[in-house]
Amino acid sequence: MKPMGPIPPFFTGEGGMLLIGGCGAASLVEEAGDTPLFVYDMGVVQRQVQDWRDAMPSMLSLHYAVKANPYPPLLQRMAGMVDGFDVASGGELGRALEAGMDPAHVSFAGPGKRDDELIAAIDSGVTINLESEGEARRAITIARQRGRTPRLAVRVNPDFDLKGSGMRMGGGAKPFGVDADRAAALARWLIDAGADWRGWHIFAGSQALDAAALIETQAATLALAARLSDAVGATPPLVNLGGGFGIPHFPGDVRLDIRPIGEALARVLEARADILAGSAFAMELGRWLVGECGVYLTRVVDVKVSQGETFVVVDGGLHHQLAASGNFGTVVRRNYPIAVANRYGESPAEQPVTVVGCLCTPMDKLGDKVALPTVEEGDLIALFLAGAYGASASPAAFLGHPNPLELLIG
Ligand SMILES: *Cc1c(COP(=O)(O)O)cnc(C)c1O
Repeated sequence: MKPMGPIPPFFTGEGGMLLIGGCGAASLVEEAGDTPLFVYDMGVVQRQVQDWRDAMPSMLSLHYAVKANPYPPLLQRMAGMVDGFDVASGGELGRALEAGMDPAHVSFAGPGKRDDELIAAIDSGVTINLESEGEARRAITIARQRGRTPRLAVRVNPDFDLKGSGMRMGGGAKPFGVDADRAAALARWLIDAGADWRGWHIFAGSQALDAAALIETQAATLALAARLSDAVGATPPLVNLGGGFGIPHFPGDVRLDIRPIGEALARVLEARADILAGSAFAMELGRWLVGECGVYLTRVVDVKVSQGETFVVVDGGLHHQLAASGNFGTVVRRNYPIAVANRYGESPAEQPVTVVGCLCTPMDKLGDKVALPTVEEGDLIALFLAGAYGASASPAAFLGHPNPLELLIG
């Protein structure tokens, strides 16, 4: 048997059925019409947003990183719950605006923005977080051609890293942002070119469960923002401090307590440098806000035995939930939390089983030698942590299976 990650504390069972937002998993499948199905419980997101607001200093605004889950009905709900959206493509920009988010509270980061994406951003009045000097030149040229004053911030590649972070986005040579030692010169050039300089975007990493490391990174981020602003000689209207809050995925992972992070951040904001006195501050989060709200429900098509090992074959797979197969952002494959939705709370069978998807590749493993109750054809398997980097971050076209269904509740 191999261990699995912890099931998020928002889920319970009733009469042997997994409840998602108070609804039985089987009735949700019936309502949606089929499996595989992603269910997103907005009640969970609401609690995360509330926890964040309770813990963080009130002057800090909360942005949602749309790439974590760009499902339009979810975005529409998020638009009323958070203070801004961060997008990373022209497509996400379109969805953010369709969801009703005010363009003044949308920022657009990401390398390789094409001219048509810069045009869409400048015309709609969102802030572009510039990833390079070349992108800055193109943005200025496009804005002049269109007779507009572009809202431009500089994304900084910080000279430090978020320790213990699952994905490093800062420190050392990176395709993201402008190196810290050139960022002030670029901001000065933008101001001189007549742009509406919006400030700094400093994102040092993500998926961290270490509060001390996050506290240290936020302090370093504020210090860097102050140093750069002094070099420019101007107060940045907004400092986007990044985010990086993680959620537990694997055995041994412990839930992040964000209260001490908020207390530490309140102290460093209180004591911030004079040049930042008039600045606004934002944090951008994706996975921490929506990761735990999602459950991927997939039906057992076959149960088979090979050389003494039992394989549970489901109608879903890595083409919808790549991360659970261990092929998205992890080095070693470990088990996401998984359960039999219609045998919730039953004791596990003696023999562990391996849950595999319907794709013809050995990579398509959703649970490796996991302890589950005895599984039969037609049962519903639930994979947790499916609210972020699920449907939109998986190779849906691989092998020509249908797209998953998605359902928003709560
Ligand atoms: C992906 C990304 C995020 C969101 O990261 P999470 O780990 O989902 O919180 C935030 N900011 C930027 C710049 C990103 O690229």
